Amino acid sequence: MDCAGGGVLTDNLLIVGGGIAGVQAALDAAESGANVYLVERRSSLGGRMAQLDKTFPTNDCSMCILSPKLVEAGRNPNIHILTLSELESVEGNAGNFHVKIRRHPRYVREDVCTGCGSCAAVCPISVDNEFEEGLGKVKAISIPFPQAVPLKYSINPGACLRLIHGKGCGLCAKACTAGAIDFEMKEETLELDVGSIILATGFDQWSPTPLENYNYDRIQDVITSLEFERVLNASGPTGGKVVRPSDGKIPEHIVFVQCVGSRDERYQPYCSRICCMATVKEAMMAFEHEPSIRKVTVLYMDIRAYGKDFEAFYRRARCEDGIEFIRARPGEIFEDDGKVIVRFENFRKNRVEEIDADLVVLASALVPSKGTEKLAQICGIKLDEYGFLQERHINALPVDTSREGIYLAGCAGGPKDIPDTVAQASAAAAKALKHIELKTEEEEGEGIEPIPWEGEPRIGVFVCSCGINIGGVVDVKAVAEYAASLPGVVYSEENMYTCSADTQGKMAEIIREKGLNRVVVASCSPRTHEPLFRETCAKAGLNPYLFETTNIR
Ligand code: SF4
Ligand code: SF4
Ligand code: SF4
Repeated sequence: MDCAGGGVLTDNLLIVGGGIAGVQAALDAAESGANVYLVERRSSLGGRMAQLDKTFPTNDCSMCILSPKLVEAGRNPNIHILTLSELESVEGNAGNFHVKIRRHPRYVREDVCTGCGSCAAVCPISVDNEFEEGLGKVKAISIPFPQAVPLKYSINPGACLRLIHGKGCGLCAKACTAGAIDFEMKEETLELDVGSIILATGFDQWSPTPLENYNYDRIQDVITSLEFERVLNASGPTGGKVVRPSDGKIPEHIVFVQCVGSRDERYQPYCSRICCMATVKEAMMAFEHEPSIRKVTVLYMDIRAYGKDFEAFYRRARCEDGIEFIRARPGEIFEDDGKVIVRFENFRKNRVEEIDADLVVLASALVPSKGTEKLAQICGIKLDEYGFLQERHINALPVDTSREGIYLAGCAGGPKDIPDTVAQASAAAAKALKHIELKTEEEEGEGIEPIPWEGEPRIGVFVCSCGINIGGVVDVKAVAEYAASLPGVVYSEENMYTCSADTQGKMAEIIREKGLNRVVVASCSPRTHEPLFRETCAKAGLNPYLFETTNIR
Protein backbone atom coordinates (compact mmCIF):
# COMPACT_ATOMS: atom_id res chain seq x y z
CA MET A 1 0.00 0.00 0.00
CA ASP A 2 1.32 3.43 -0.88
CA CYS A 3 0.92 5.49 2.26
CA ALA A 4 2.69 8.59 1.01
CA GLY A 5 -0.65 10.11 0.16
CA GLY A 6 -1.88 9.67 3.72
CA GLY A 7 -3.12 6.04 3.83
CA VAL A 8 -4.41 5.27 7.33
CA LEU A 9 -3.80 1.99 9.13
CA THR A 10 -3.53 2.72 12.84
CA ASP A 11 -4.73 5.14 15.50
CA ASN A 12 -1.24 5.28 17.02
CA LEU A 13 0.74 8.53 17.02
CA LEU A 14 4.30 8.83 18.32
CA ILE A 15 5.53 12.04 19.94
CA VAL A 16 9.18 12.37 20.90
CA GLY A 17 9.83 14.93 23.64
CA GLY A 18 7.76 15.53 26.76
CA GLY A 19 8.18 19.29 27.19
CA ILE A 20 5.41 21.81 26.65
CA ALA A 21 5.43 21.21 22.86
CA GLY A 22 5.17 17.43 23.11
CA VAL A 23 2.57 17.56 25.87
CA GLN A 24 0.40 20.11 24.04
CA ALA A 25 0.55 18.06 20.82
CA ALA A 26 -0.31 14.91 22.80
CA LEU A 27 -3.31 16.54 24.48
CA ASP A 28 -4.67 17.90 21.19
CA ALA A 29 -4.18 14.62 19.33
CA ALA A 30 -5.59 12.51 22.17
CA GLU A 31 -8.63 14.74 22.40
CA SER A 32 -9.31 13.99 18.74
CA GLY A 33 -9.15 10.26 19.46
CA ALA A 34 -5.54 9.38 18.58
CA ASN A 35 -3.73 6.81 20.69
CA VAL A 36 -0.62 8.75 21.66
CA TYR A 37 2.74 7.35 22.74
CA LEU A 38 4.68 10.17 24.37
CA VAL A 39 8.39 9.38 24.59
CA GLU A 40 10.61 11.36 26.99
CA ARG A 41 14.24 10.62 27.74
CA ARG A 42 14.13 12.03 31.27
CA SER A 43 12.22 10.49 34.19
CA SER A 44 9.37 13.06 34.05
CA LEU A 45 7.49 15.14 31.52
CA GLY A 46 7.94 18.91 31.74
CA GLY A 47 11.06 19.73 29.71
CA ARG A 48 12.63 23.18 29.95
CA MET A 49 9.41 24.94 30.90
CA ALA A 50 9.39 23.01 34.18
CA GLN A 51 12.72 24.67 35.03
CA LEU A 52 11.48 28.22 34.51
CA ASP A 53 10.22 30.44 37.30
CA LYS A 54 7.83 32.77 35.49
CA THR A 55 6.76 33.28 31.88
CA PHE A 56 6.79 36.51 29.86
CA PRO A 57 4.97 38.76 29.09
CA THR A 58 2.52 38.12 31.95
CA ASN A 59 4.87 36.94 34.71
CA ASP A 60 2.59 33.95 35.26
CA CYS A 61 4.19 31.18 37.25
CA SER A 62 5.55 28.77 34.64
CA MET A 63 4.52 25.68 36.55
CA CYS A 64 1.01 27.06 37.07
CA ILE A 65 0.56 26.97 33.29
CA LEU A 66 2.41 23.74 32.69
CA SER A 67 1.32 21.59 35.61
CA PRO A 68 -2.40 21.30 34.69
CA LYS A 69 -1.34 20.12 31.23
CA LEU A 70 1.04 17.56 32.73
CA VAL A 71 -1.67 16.26 35.05
CA GLU A 72 -4.12 16.07 32.16
CA ALA A 73 -1.59 14.16 30.05
CA GLY A 74 -0.89 11.85 32.98
CA ARG A 75 -4.50 10.83 33.38
CA ASN A 76 -5.66 10.82 29.75
CA PRO A 77 -6.30 7.18 28.82
CA ASN A 78 -5.34 7.96 25.20
CA ILE A 79 -1.83 9.10 26.21
CA HIS A 80 0.81 6.49 27.09
CA ILE A 81 3.77 8.15 28.75
CA LEU A 82 7.09 6.40 28.13
CA THR A 83 9.72 8.12 30.28
CA LEU A 84 13.45 7.24 30.35
CA SER A 85 12.90 6.21 26.73
CA GLU A 86 14.49 7.01 23.38
CA LEU A 87 13.55 6.48 19.77
CA GLU A 88 15.88 3.90 18.30
CA SER A 89 14.68 3.27 14.75
CA VAL A 90 12.00 4.27 12.25
CA GLU A 91 10.99 2.18 9.22
CA GLY A 92 8.13 2.44 6.76
CA ASN A 93 6.33 5.54 5.63
CA ALA A 94 3.55 7.97 6.51
CA GLY A 95 0.51 6.15 7.88
CA ASN A 96 2.54 3.01 8.37
CA PHE A 97 5.71 3.59 10.38
CA HIS A 98 7.28 0.83 12.44
CA VAL A 99 9.31 2.25 15.33
CA LYS A 100 11.53 0.81 18.05
CA ILE A 101 11.79 2.57 21.40
CA ARG A 102 14.51 1.81 23.91
CA ARG A 103 13.25 1.97 27.50
CA HIS A 104 15.90 2.43 30.17
CA PRO A 105 15.23 0.90 33.59
CA ARG A 106 13.83 3.15 36.32
CA TYR A 107 14.70 0.56 38.99
CA VAL A 108 11.42 1.58 40.61
CA ARG A 109 8.14 -0.03 39.58
CA GLU A 110 5.85 2.70 38.26
CA ASP A 111 2.75 0.65 39.07
CA VAL A 112 3.77 0.34 42.73
CA CYS A 113 5.62 3.57 43.70
CA THR A 114 3.38 5.99 45.58
CA GLY A 115 5.80 8.93 45.37
CA CYS A 116 6.10 9.06 49.17
CA GLY A 117 9.84 9.90 49.15
CA SER A 118 10.85 7.59 52.03
CA CYS A 119 13.53 6.06 49.80
CA ALA A 120 15.26 9.37 49.07
CA ALA A 121 15.18 10.29 52.76
CA VAL A 122 17.49 7.36 53.61
CA CYS A 123 19.69 7.32 50.48
CA PRO A 124 23.26 8.22 51.51
CA ILE A 125 24.38 9.41 48.05
CA SER A 126 23.99 12.96 46.73
CA VAL A 127 25.04 14.03 43.24
CA ASP A 128 24.86 17.24 41.21
CA ASN A 129 21.26 17.95 40.29
CA GLU A 130 20.87 18.17 36.52
CA PHE A 131 17.39 19.67 36.83
CA GLU A 132 18.86 22.45 39.03
CA GLU A 133 21.53 23.06 36.37
CA GLY A 134 24.12 21.71 38.81
CA LEU A 135 23.35 24.36 41.48
CA GLY A 136 21.90 21.89 43.98
CA LYS A 137 22.35 18.29 44.99
CA VAL A 138 19.95 15.39 44.58
CA LYS A 139 19.85 11.89 46.00
CA ALA A 140 20.70 8.85 43.86
CA ILE A 141 16.97 8.01 44.02
CA SER A 142 14.81 11.03 43.28
CA ILE A 143 12.10 12.87 41.38
CA PRO A 144 13.24 15.97 39.45
CA PHE A 145 10.61 18.39 40.82
CA PRO A 146 7.57 18.19 43.12
CA GLN A 147 4.97 18.28 40.33
CA ALA A 148 6.71 15.56 38.27
CA VAL A 149 4.52 13.42 36.00
CA PRO A 150 4.64 10.54 36.53
CA LEU A 151 5.29 11.14 40.23
CA LYS A 152 7.50 8.06 40.44
CA TYR A 153 10.99 7.97 41.84
CA SER A 154 13.89 6.68 39.73
CA ILE A 155 17.41 5.56 40.55
CA ASN A 156 20.40 7.15 38.86
CA PRO A 157 22.43 4.06 37.94
CA GLY A 158 25.62 6.11 37.71
CA ALA A 159 25.33 7.19 41.35
CA CYS A 160 23.64 4.31 43.18
CA LEU A 161 26.00 2.22 45.33
CA ARG A 162 24.06 -1.00 44.75
CA LEU A 163 23.91 -0.62 40.98
CA ILE A 164 27.58 0.36 40.66
CA HIS A 165 28.95 -2.42 42.87
CA GLY A 166 26.25 -5.04 42.28
CA LYS A 167 25.79 -5.45 46.03
CA GLY A 168 25.53 -3.50 49.30
CA CYS A 169 23.48 -0.48 50.43
CA GLY A 170 19.86 -1.20 49.43
CA LEU A 171 18.64 1.23 52.12
CA CYS A 172 15.96 2.57 49.78
CA ALA A 173 14.53 -0.93 49.26
CA LYS A 174 14.35 -1.41 53.04
CA ALA A 175 12.60 1.97 53.47
CA CYS A 176 10.11 1.32 50.68
CA THR A 177 7.19 -0.38 52.38
CA ALA A 178 5.35 -0.52 49.04
CA GLY A 179 8.08 -2.81 47.64
CA ALA A 180 8.59 -0.67 44.53
CA ILE A 181 12.39 -0.90 44.22
CA ASP A 182 13.62 -3.42 41.66
CA PHE A 183 17.41 -3.51 41.16
CA GLU A 184 16.99 -6.29 38.59
CA MET A 185 15.05 -4.15 36.11
CA LYS A 186 16.54 -4.34 32.60
CA GLU A 187 16.51 -2.25 29.47
CA GLU A 188 13.63 -3.13 27.13
CA THR A 189 12.75 -2.47 23.51
CA LEU A 190 9.18 -1.59 22.59
CA GLU A 191 8.04 -1.96 18.98
CA LEU A 192 5.05 -0.01 17.69
CA ASP A 193 3.20 0.70 14.46
CA VAL A 194 2.36 4.39 14.26
CA GLY A 195 0.71 6.51 11.60
CA SER A 196 2.81 9.62 12.14
CA ILE A 197 5.53 11.08 14.33
CA ILE A 198 5.98 14.48 15.97
CA LEU A 199 9.45 15.52 17.08
CA ALA A 200 9.42 18.01 19.96
CA THR A 201 12.84 17.61 21.48
CA GLY A 202 13.37 21.21 22.62
CA PHE A 203 16.66 22.99 23.20
CA ASP A 204 19.73 23.11 25.40
CA GLN A 205 21.37 26.26 26.67
CA TRP A 206 24.83 26.77 25.23
CA SER A 207 27.60 26.57 27.81
CA PRO A 208 29.52 29.89 27.66
CA THR A 209 32.83 28.20 28.54
CA PRO A 210 34.42 28.83 25.10
CA LEU A 211 34.00 32.60 25.68
CA GLU A 212 37.14 32.65 27.80
CA ASN A 213 37.01 36.39 28.55
CA TYR A 214 33.71 35.89 30.40
CA ASN A 215 35.24 33.41 32.88
CA TYR A 216 31.99 31.53 33.29
CA ASP A 217 33.69 28.38 34.54
CA ARG A 218 36.11 30.23 36.81
CA ILE A 219 33.95 32.82 38.61
CA GLN A 220 31.18 31.27 40.73
CA ASP A 221 29.01 34.38 40.59
CA VAL A 222 28.86 34.36 36.80
CA ILE A 223 25.92 32.11 35.93
CA THR A 224 23.65 31.40 32.96
CA SER A 225 20.06 32.57 32.69
CA LEU A 226 18.76 29.01 33.10
CA GLU A 227 20.74 28.73 36.33
CA PHE A 228 19.23 32.05 37.43
CA GLU A 229 15.72 30.68 36.68
CA ARG A 230 16.42 27.93 39.20
CA VAL A 231 17.67 30.49 41.73
CA LEU A 232 14.38 32.38 41.30
CA ASN A 233 12.24 29.27 41.53
CA ALA A 234 10.42 28.47 44.77
CA SER A 235 11.23 24.78 44.28
CA GLY A 236 14.84 25.57 43.35
CA PRO A 237 18.07 25.15 45.33
CA THR A 238 17.62 28.43 47.26
CA GLY A 239 13.84 28.18 47.72
CA GLY A 240 13.36 31.25 45.52
CA LYS A 241 15.78 33.47 47.46
CA VAL A 242 17.99 35.47 45.12
CA VAL A 243 21.45 34.79 46.51
CA ARG A 244 24.89 34.48 44.96
CA PRO A 245 26.35 30.99 44.61
CA SER A 246 29.72 31.94 46.14
CA ASP A 247 28.59 33.04 49.62
CA GLY A 248 24.79 32.78 49.78
CA LYS A 249 24.44 36.59 50.16
CA ILE A 250 21.76 38.66 48.46
CA PRO A 251 23.47 40.53 45.61
CA GLU A 252 23.28 44.32 45.68
CA HIS A 253 23.88 44.76 41.97
CA ILE A 254 22.95 42.19 39.31
CA VAL A 255 24.22 42.62 35.76
CA PHE A 256 22.61 40.77 32.85
CA VAL A 257 24.66 40.27 29.68
CA GLN A 258 22.75 39.71 26.45
CA CYS A 259 23.59 37.84 23.23
CA VAL A 260 26.11 35.50 24.86
CA GLY A 261 27.18 33.19 22.06
CA SER A 262 24.20 34.29 19.94
CA ARG A 263 24.62 36.63 16.96
CA ASP A 264 28.29 35.73 17.09
CA GLU A 265 29.86 34.29 13.95
CA ARG A 266 32.30 32.28 16.07
CA TYR A 267 29.55 30.38 17.88
CA GLN A 268 25.82 30.71 17.04
CA PRO A 269 25.28 33.31 14.31
CA TYR A 270 21.51 33.42 14.86
CA CYS A 271 19.45 35.39 17.38
CA SER A 272 18.13 33.06 20.10
CA ARG A 273 14.85 34.98 20.10
CA ILE A 274 13.75 34.48 23.69
CA CYS A 275 16.66 35.82 25.74
CA CYS A 276 15.79 39.52 25.52
CA MET A 277 12.36 38.98 27.03
CA ALA A 278 13.58 36.28 29.40
CA THR A 279 16.10 38.78 30.79
CA VAL A 280 13.48 41.52 31.13
CA LYS A 281 11.35 39.07 33.11
CA GLU A 282 14.27 37.81 35.24
CA ALA A 283 15.34 41.38 36.01
CA MET A 284 11.81 42.24 37.17
CA MET A 285 11.61 39.05 39.22
CA ALA A 286 14.94 39.73 40.93
CA PHE A 287 13.51 42.97 42.36
CA GLU A 288 10.20 41.31 43.20
CA HIS A 289 11.88 38.45 45.09
CA GLU A 290 14.42 40.63 46.91
CA PRO A 291 13.43 44.27 47.33
CA SER A 292 16.82 44.88 48.99
CA ILE A 293 18.58 44.49 45.64
CA ARG A 294 19.91 47.97 44.91
CA LYS A 295 20.34 47.86 41.18
CA VAL A 296 19.77 45.72 38.11
CA THR A 297 21.59 46.54 34.86
CA VAL A 298 21.10 44.96 31.43
CA LEU A 299 23.93 45.21 28.88
CA TYR A 300 22.38 44.65 25.47
CA MET A 301 23.00 45.17 21.75
CA ASP A 302 19.32 45.80 20.95
CA ILE A 303 16.13 44.57 22.55
CA ARG A 304 14.02 42.24 20.43
CA ALA A 305 10.47 42.49 21.70
CA TYR A 306 8.34 41.45 18.76
CA GLY A 307 5.65 39.22 20.35
CA LYS A 308 2.21 40.32 21.49
CA ASP A 309 2.48 42.67 24.49
CA PHE A 310 6.28 42.24 24.60
CA GLU A 311 7.07 45.91 23.91
CA ALA A 312 4.80 47.04 26.76
CA PHE A 313 6.49 44.49 29.03
CA TYR A 314 9.91 45.86 28.15
CA ARG A 315 8.77 49.45 28.65
CA ARG A 316 7.40 48.59 32.05
CA ALA A 317 10.77 47.15 33.09
CA ARG A 318 12.60 50.19 31.80
CA CYS A 319 10.27 52.99 32.82
CA GLU A 320 8.41 51.68 35.89
CA ASP A 321 10.58 49.02 37.49
CA GLY A 322 13.79 51.05 37.38
CA ILE A 323 15.92 48.54 35.51
CA GLU A 324 18.88 50.20 33.79
CA PHE A 325 19.46 49.25 30.14
CA ILE A 326 22.82 50.14 28.58
CA ARG A 327 23.61 49.51 24.89
CA ALA A 328 26.87 47.74 25.21
CA ARG A 329 28.98 44.75 24.34
CA PRO A 330 31.01 43.35 27.24
CA GLY A 331 34.55 42.42 26.31
CA GLU A 332 35.64 40.97 29.60
CA ILE A 333 34.29 39.75 32.94
CA PHE A 334 36.85 39.29 35.71
CA GLU A 335 37.23 39.28 39.47
CA ASP A 336 38.89 42.00 41.49
CA ASP A 337 38.91 42.24 45.27
CA GLY A 338 35.82 40.07 45.77
CA LYS A 339 33.82 41.94 43.15
CA VAL A 340 32.96 40.79 39.66
CA ILE A 341 33.93 43.50 37.16
CA VAL A 342 32.27 43.78 33.77
CA ARG A 343 34.25 45.76 31.19
CA PHE A 344 32.19 46.82 28.19
CA GLU A 345 32.00 49.15 25.26
CA ASN A 346 29.22 51.69 25.83
CA PHE A 347 27.81 52.21 22.32
CA ARG A 348 26.07 55.50 23.10
CA LYS A 349 29.00 57.12 24.86
CA ASN A 350 31.46 55.47 22.51
CA ARG A 351 33.89 54.52 25.24
CA VAL A 352 35.00 51.57 27.35
CA GLU A 353 33.53 51.44 30.88
CA GLU A 354 33.61 49.13 33.87
CA ILE A 355 30.93 48.29 36.43
CA ASP A 356 31.04 46.25 39.64
CA ALA A 357 28.56 43.43 40.01
CA ASP A 358 27.73 41.00 42.77
CA LEU A 359 26.15 38.58 40.33
CA VAL A 360 26.39 38.37 36.53
CA VAL A 361 23.75 36.50 34.52
CA LEU A 362 24.67 35.46 30.98
CA ALA A 363 21.79 35.23 28.49
CA SER A 364 23.43 32.35 26.73
CA ALA A 365 22.35 31.04 23.33
CA LEU A 366 19.76 28.36 22.72
CA VAL A 367 21.13 25.39 20.78
CA PRO A 368 19.59 22.12 19.54
CA SER A 369 19.07 19.63 22.36
CA LYS A 370 21.63 16.90 22.79
CA GLY A 371 20.88 14.02 20.46
CA THR A 372 19.10 16.07 17.77
CA GLU A 373 21.59 15.05 15.09
CA LYS A 374 21.20 11.35 15.94
CA LEU A 375 17.42 11.70 16.02
CA ALA A 376 17.48 13.26 12.54
CA GLN A 377 19.55 10.32 11.27
CA ILE A 378 17.16 7.81 12.84
CA CYS A 379 14.17 9.56 11.27
CA GLY A 380 15.90 10.20 7.94
CA ILE A 381 15.19 13.93 8.01
CA LYS A 382 17.24 17.04 7.31
CA LEU A 383 18.80 19.49 9.75
CA ASP A 384 19.31 23.19 9.10
CA GLU A 385 22.74 24.83 9.06
CA TYR A 386 22.66 25.32 12.85
CA GLY A 387 21.66 21.75 13.70
CA PHE A 388 17.94 22.36 14.36
CA LEU A 389 15.33 20.27 12.50
CA GLN A 390 14.72 21.67 9.03
CA GLU A 391 11.18 22.71 8.13
CA ARG A 392 9.95 21.51 4.70
CA HIS A 393 9.35 25.18 3.91
CA ILE A 394 9.90 27.87 6.53
CA ASN A 395 6.86 29.92 5.46
CA ALA A 396 4.47 27.48 3.84
CA LEU A 397 5.14 24.23 5.74
CA PRO A 398 6.68 25.27 9.08
CA VAL A 399 5.78 22.07 11.00
CA ASP A 400 6.53 19.57 8.22
CA THR A 401 9.99 17.99 8.11
CA SER A 402 11.67 16.74 4.96
CA ARG A 403 9.94 13.35 5.40
CA GLU A 404 6.20 12.87 4.88
CA GLY A 405 4.41 11.90 8.12
CA ILE A 406 7.10 13.30 10.44
CA TYR A 407 6.44 16.73 11.95
CA LEU A 408 8.27 19.10 14.26
CA ALA A 409 7.11 21.37 17.07
CA GLY A 410 8.71 23.94 19.34
CA CYS A 411 12.41 24.63 19.79
CA ALA A 412 13.42 21.42 17.97
CA GLY A 413 13.04 23.58 14.84
CA GLY A 414 14.78 26.66 16.30
CA PRO A 415 14.48 28.95 19.33
CA LYS A 416 10.96 30.17 20.06
CA ASP A 417 8.93 31.40 22.99
CA ILE A 418 6.15 29.54 24.77
CA PRO A 419 3.17 31.06 22.87
CA ASP A 420 4.76 30.15 19.51
CA THR A 421 5.73 26.72 20.79
CA VAL A 422 2.20 25.93 21.96
CA ALA A 423 0.70 27.17 18.67
CA GLN A 424 3.16 25.10 16.67
CA ALA A 425 2.47 22.01 18.77
CA SER A 426 -1.25 22.27 18.04
CA ALA A 427 -0.48 22.76 14.35
CA ALA A 428 1.78 19.68 14.32
CA ALA A 429 -0.92 17.61 16.03
CA ALA A 430 -3.49 18.70 13.43
CA LYS A 431 -1.13 17.77 10.59
CA ALA A 432 -0.13 14.46 12.16
CA LEU A 433 -3.76 13.38 12.51
CA LYS A 434 -4.19 13.04 8.77
CA HIS A 435 -2.14 9.82 8.86
CA ILE A 436 -4.06 8.42 11.84
CA GLU A 437 -7.22 6.32 11.85
CA LEU A 438 -9.19 8.03 14.59
CA LYS A 439 -11.29 6.11 17.08
CA THR A 440 -14.97 6.41 16.34
CA GLU A 441 -16.65 4.97 19.44
CA GLU A 442 -17.09 7.01 22.61
CA GLU A 443 -15.03 5.59 25.42
CA GLU A 444 -16.21 7.82 28.22
CA GLY A 445 -17.93 6.98 31.47
CA GLU A 446 -15.93 4.92 33.91
CA GLY A 447 -19.03 4.09 35.98
CA ILE A 448 -17.94 5.62 39.30
CA GLU A 449 -20.80 5.89 41.83
CA PRO A 450 -22.02 9.53 41.78
CA ILE A 451 -21.83 11.47 45.07
CA PRO A 452 -25.34 12.72 46.03
CA TRP A 453 -25.44 16.49 46.07
CA GLU A 454 -28.73 16.91 47.97
CA GLY A 455 -28.89 17.38 51.75
CA GLU A 456 -26.55 19.33 54.01
CA PRO A 457 -23.52 20.82 52.27
CA ARG A 458 -20.28 19.00 53.08
CA ILE A 459 -17.68 21.45 51.83
CA GLY A 460 -14.01 20.64 51.30
CA VAL A 461 -11.50 23.52 51.03
CA PHE A 462 -8.02 23.22 49.49
CA VAL A 463 -5.76 26.25 49.92
CA CYS A 464 -2.65 26.41 47.73
CA SER A 465 0.75 27.85 48.67
CA CYS A 466 2.08 27.50 45.11
CA GLY A 467 5.56 27.28 46.63
CA ILE A 468 6.26 30.88 47.63
CA ASN A 469 4.14 32.40 44.86
CA ILE A 470 1.14 32.54 47.19
CA GLY A 471 2.73 31.23 50.40
CA GLY A 472 5.28 34.08 50.36
CA VAL A 473 2.50 36.68 50.57
CA VAL A 474 -0.55 34.98 52.09
CA ASP A 475 -0.63 33.10 55.41
CA VAL A 476 -1.98 29.98 53.76
CA LYS A 477 -2.19 27.99 56.99
CA ALA A 478 -4.34 30.71 58.60
CA VAL A 479 -6.62 30.80 55.54
CA ALA A 480 -7.10 27.02 55.73
CA GLU A 481 -7.79 27.22 59.49
CA TYR A 482 -10.27 30.05 59.00
CA ALA A 483 -12.03 28.14 56.21
CA ALA A 484 -12.36 25.15 58.55
CA SER A 485 -14.33 27.32 61.01
CA LEU A 486 -16.95 28.31 58.42
CA PRO A 487 -20.40 26.71 58.37
CA GLY A 488 -20.70 23.61 56.20
CA VAL A 489 -16.93 23.12 55.89
CA VAL A 490 -16.08 19.56 56.93
CA TYR A 491 -12.57 19.46 55.55
CA SER A 492 -9.87 22.09 54.98
CA GLU A 493 -6.19 21.72 54.15
CA GLU A 494 -3.21 23.62 52.77
CA ASN A 495 -1.19 22.21 49.87
CA MET A 496 2.25 23.09 48.56
CA TYR A 497 1.10 22.69 44.92
CA THR A 498 -2.62 21.95 44.55
CA CYS A 499 -2.38 21.40 40.80
CA SER A 500 0.29 18.66 41.00
CA ALA A 501 -0.70 15.14 39.90
CA ASP A 502 -0.05 13.94 43.41
CA THR A 503 -2.36 16.46 45.10
CA GLN A 504 -5.05 15.99 42.46
CA GLY A 505 -5.03 12.25 43.14
CA LYS A 506 -5.28 12.89 46.89
CA MET A 507 -8.03 15.47 46.35
CA ALA A 508 -10.14 12.86 44.52
CA GLU A 509 -9.54 10.38 47.36
CA ILE A 510 -10.53 12.94 50.01
CA ILE A 511 -13.72 13.87 48.11
CA ARG A 512 -14.84 10.23 48.26
CA GLU A 513 -13.46 9.45 51.71
CA LYS A 514 -15.09 12.46 53.40
CA GLY A 515 -18.21 12.39 51.24
CA LEU A 516 -17.64 15.99 50.10
CA ASN A 517 -20.53 17.34 48.04
CA ARG A 518 -19.03 20.80 47.49
CA VAL A 519 -15.38 21.66 46.81
CA VAL A 520 -13.51 24.98 46.92
CA VAL A 521 -9.91 25.54 45.80
CA ALA A 522 -8.18 28.80 46.71
CA SER A 523 -5.22 29.13 44.37
CA CYS A 524 -4.32 31.11 41.25
CA SER A 525 -6.06 31.95 38.00
CA PRO A 526 -9.35 30.10 37.36
CA ARG A 527 -8.61 30.55 33.66
CA THR A 528 -5.74 28.08 33.75
CA HIS A 529 -6.82 25.78 36.58
CA GLU A 530 -10.61 25.57 36.85
CA PRO A 531 -11.03 22.87 34.16
CA LEU A 532 -8.43 20.67 35.86
CA PHE A 533 -10.06 20.91 39.30
CA ARG A 534 -13.54 20.34 37.85
CA GLU A 535 -12.30 17.24 36.08
CA THR A 536 -10.85 15.91 39.34
CA CYS A 537 -14.26 16.42 41.00
CA ALA A 538 -15.96 14.62 38.11
CA LYS A 539 -13.50 11.73 38.33
CA ALA A 540 -14.30 11.42 42.04
CA GLY A 541 -18.02 11.21 41.20
CA LEU A 542 -18.97 14.77 42.15
CA ASN A 543 -20.95 17.03 39.83
CA PRO A 544 -18.12 19.31 38.58
CA TYR A 545 -20.40 22.35 38.83
CA LEU A 546 -20.43 21.96 42.59
CA PHE A 547 -16.84 23.17 42.48
CA GLU A 548 -15.84 26.79 43.11
CA THR A 549 -12.44 28.38 42.68
CA THR A 550 -11.10 31.57 44.15
CA ASN A 551 -7.98 33.44 43.14
CA ILE A 552 -5.84 34.39 46.15
CA ARG A 553 -2.68 35.30 44.23
FE1 SF4 B 1 7.93 5.71 48.32
FE2 SF4 B 1 8.95 3.36 47.54
FE3 SF4 B 1 8.20 5.10 45.69
FE4 SF4 B 1 10.35 5.59 47.17
S1 SF4 B 1 10.09 3.94 45.69
S2 SF4 B 1 8.74 7.04 46.68
S3 SF4 B 1 9.74 4.71 49.16
S4 SF4 B 1 6.87 4.07 47.20
FE1 SF4 C 1 20.59 5.24 47.33
FE2 SF4 C 1 21.27 3.22 45.69
FE3 SF4 C 1 21.52 2.95 48.32
FE4 SF4 C 1 19.11 3.03 47.18
S1 SF4 C 1 20.66 1.45 46.90
S2 SF4 C 1 19.72 4.06 49.06
S3 SF4 C 1 19.46 4.52 45.55
S4 SF4 C 1 22.65 4.38 47.02
FE1 SF4 D 1 20.45 38.66 21.73
FE2 SF4 D 1 17.99 39.34 22.46
FE3 SF4 D 1 18.41 37.83 20.27
FE4 SF4 D 1 18.78 36.82 22.67
S1 SF4 D 1 16.82 37.54 21.84
S2 SF4 D 1 20.18 36.61 20.94
S3 SF4 D 1 19.60 38.54 23.80
S4 SF4 D 1 19.02 39.94 20.59
